[in-house]
Amino acid sequence: MERCVGCGAVLPVTEGPVHPYMRSSPACFAAFNTLIAAEYSSGKLLEVNRLTVDTWAVQHPGSPEDRRAVQSVGLHLARLMLQLASPHPPREANAVMLDFARHKKTLRPLKPPTVFRLTASDAAPFAGSSSHASKVRDWAEATWLDWSNEHRYIRAWVAERCERPIAPVDPRTSITA
Ligand SMILES: [Zn+2]
Repeated sequence: MERCVGCGAVLPVTEGPVHPYMRSSPACFAAFNTLIAAEYSSGKLLEVNRLTVDTWAVQHPGSPEDRRAVQSVGLHLARLMLQLASPHPPREANAVMLDFARHKKTLRPLKPPTVFRLTASDAAPFAGSSSHASKVRDWAEATWLDWSNEHRYIRAWVAERCERPIAPVDPRTSITA
């Protein structure tokens, strides 16, 4: 067995490709690709594709020395927040993402959680099934909460750069935010 350097999932040792800067074990990358493949083969599951991508991305932050990795984590965490916390549909979240991308150089390295309670390997066994979307949502919501130490930073970063009216809400902090 092998522990994923990104999300911590303990999975069988396999040979296979990994992402160039979102560092993971080959087995974890394969679990992610299983979810993505199911989403691309179903119009309905395609709706959660961005959630899958953002969630996996922020669980595999790579090296803080690698500027691509730093920007990737920040942008995906911002989009994950928008998808989970605002009523805007995914297409609009994507348009907002393009606004953010223009400011990605201002993102600082984020400090990832030490533990993720759910990983791609918890959702992948349900790929393509009637539980696929709900498993991805559970994984995404848990991951956003795991990142709570950086909520304040990413919320402020979004508020400062966002050119569209967005009011992200966090159920735990919305009263004081
Ligand atoms: Zn992983």
